Amino acid sequence: MSIRTVACPACGIDLEVKDSKVLTCELCGHQMILEDEKKMPDNIDEIFEEVKKRYVSDAKELKKTMSGFTIAAIVLFVVVFVVTIVFMMKSFNSANDAMMKKVFSDPLETSVQDSNG
Ligand SMILES: [Zn+2]
Repeated sequence: MSIRTVACPACGIDLEVKDSKVLTCELCGHQMILEDEKKMPDNIDEIFEEVKKRYVSDAKELKKTMSGFTIAAIVLFVVVFVVTIVFMMKSFNSANDAMMKKVFSDPLETSVQDSNG
């Protein structure tokens, strides 16, 4: 339990805040109604610390997400690259085969077809 003091608005002396909602000044008798005292921050450093903690955890989460994203992007790039290379090799081979076939067997086939039909 923390002891809090409030300065009397009338005479300015420090008054100890008790559990009751109404505080009466010991010197001048000025009465104050204490409302929402827990809403007021006791320490600005606590709030700053809380904000900093939240910000840092957010930054860490973002960093984690970003590194995961980077790894996924690299894996995807490698997969696409390998698939492209394989596809290119295959299409090159089939094109090469087709060209070779055309060069070496087309005249024969054409002549056979010609004589047949
Ligand atoms: Zn007073």
